[in-house]
Amino acid sequence: MIEKRNFYINGSWVAPKNSKEIEVINPATEKSCAVISLGGKEDINDAVLAAKDAFKTWGFTSKEERLSLLEVFYALYKKRWNDITDAIIKEMGAPKDFASKLQTGTGASHTKSFIRYLKEFEFEKPLGDHAKNQRIIYEPKGVCALITPWNWPINQVTLKVIPALASGCTMILKPSELAPLSAMIIAELIDEAKFPKGVFNLVNGDGATTGDALTSHPDVNMISFTGSTRAGALISQNAAKDFKRLSLELGGKGANIIFKDADTEAIERGAFRCFRNSGQSCNAPTRMLVEQSIYDESIERLRKYASKFKVDDPNKNGEHIGPVISETQFNRIQGLIQKGIDEGAKLVAGGIGKPDGLKDGYYVKPTVFADVNNEMEIARTEIFGPVLSVIPFENEEEAIKIANDTDYGLTNYIQTQDTEKVKRVARKLRSGMVDVNGAGIAVDAPFGGFKHSGIGREAGKEGLLEFLEVKSVGGWN
Ligand code: NAD
Repeated sequence: MIEKRNFYINGSWVAPKNSKEIEVINPATEKSCAVISLGGKEDINDAVLAAKDAFKTWGFTSKEERLSLLEVFYALYKKRWNDITDAIIKEMGAPKDFASKLQTGTGASHTKSFIRYLKEFEFEKPLGDHAKNQRIIYEPKGVCALITPWNWPINQVTLKVIPALASGCTMILKPSELAPLSAMIIAELIDEAKFPKGVFNLVNGDGATTGDALTSHPDVNMISFTGSTRAGALISQNAAKDFKRLSLELGGKGANIIFKDADTEAIERGAFRCFRNSGQSCNAPTRMLVEQSIYDESIERLRKYASKFKVDDPNKNGEHIGPVISETQFNRIQGLIQKGIDEGAKLVAGGIGKPDGLKDGYYVKPTVFADVNNEMEIARTEIFGPVLSVIPFENEEEAIKIANDTDYGLTNYIQTQDTEKVKRVARKLRSGMVDVNGAGIAVDAPFGGFKHSGIGREAGKEGLLEFLEVKSVGGWN
């Protein structure tokens, strides 16, 4: 059993003020794999005070100083690659190869990319040739509360911690209580890289107590949150009270529009992207919109593909998916699959219950529903499991209408060989990202959503700008 009871505050690992513990459950075994503490108000006060003090100097360090520390961090991250991967496998059940290449891999790519953007970034520049005495200065926002979910634990942590460090902010990270172990390794790396004390602090805990204490603290200047739309709304209320800066990355219900001239792998690729990470990605294409003339053959292909799609132990190598995060989430997904059946959608593959041979662990069958209409609950709710809803459409206009008929607006997908159609449709989709023909969204492209999918953008230059205030100075000669 891993024991990780302490918090990282002001450059040291310290015991919590009031010891309340919680077990971290390995979703592949349903057994406890670690114990952590739940932080209370006093722990949060200590961490915020440390960050506030540290900001007085860290906020005025040179870009070169921050760059050299980030480069040390990046080198250390690569050395601990296997430890980070092992922690992710245990805490959230991502299969070995996927956990290493993608989960741990994205943490490395974001770190590398932010280092590159920091090198290029001009923190001070003239407004323009027409107004040389007008200076524009980018300054760190201050003390940041960083709150992350469990589904891409290190991806989310690095998308916040690295640009916050790069910009000169100080911070308190509260990772998901369900998957805190990989984030605690990040704290160890920051300690080893010798960032000044108080710049980075980590307090574990839940949302209702620890998260609320952090986001309502008067000395926090900015909140960067990734998680559910429900928690995002509560956090926004805390932020509104004293105008904290706010960045929210929330849920999604992406549409994948398959036109009749889509490439030969579009159908299987779409199902794969929906099932990957056991369906636990905010940007998963969970609604597949298929043009009527290729609908029947597409459903048949999906039936074959999903029936053979492998679910297995995350400790094995291979392309399979692992369990979902928790018993609560397993039961919720089962309930939504039943809802789909009750609503009259046609179950093509998967369904209720666990896949054959997997008794222990929160494993869900890769499930496909055909003949879904966009009013059904399975088409509207973010299921966060390997469940695909297929909806037929007649023409381009109808496909765009269905795709946009959702509260969310994170990522939509287009599959067609017609490049003019791609441009027309991409412009009309109300989402922060559009992925065409499996091209993918670059690691440093702005990541974020329209509508209930959030506010602000992470990654790359936009992700760095999220942590900066802009100051205009007139009369700078
Ligand atoms: P969650 O909202 O339950 O929890 C996320 C984090 O917020 C956890 O650390 C939790 O402890 C904390 N939290 C919960 N309630 C809080 C409150 N009232 N105040 C402060 N903190 C609180 O979400 P989850 O189940 O961990 O993650 C899944 C969700 O995250 C999905 O909806 C998914 O779409 C979303 N997500 C979005 C993105 C994105 O970039 N848009 C990326 C990954 C996940």
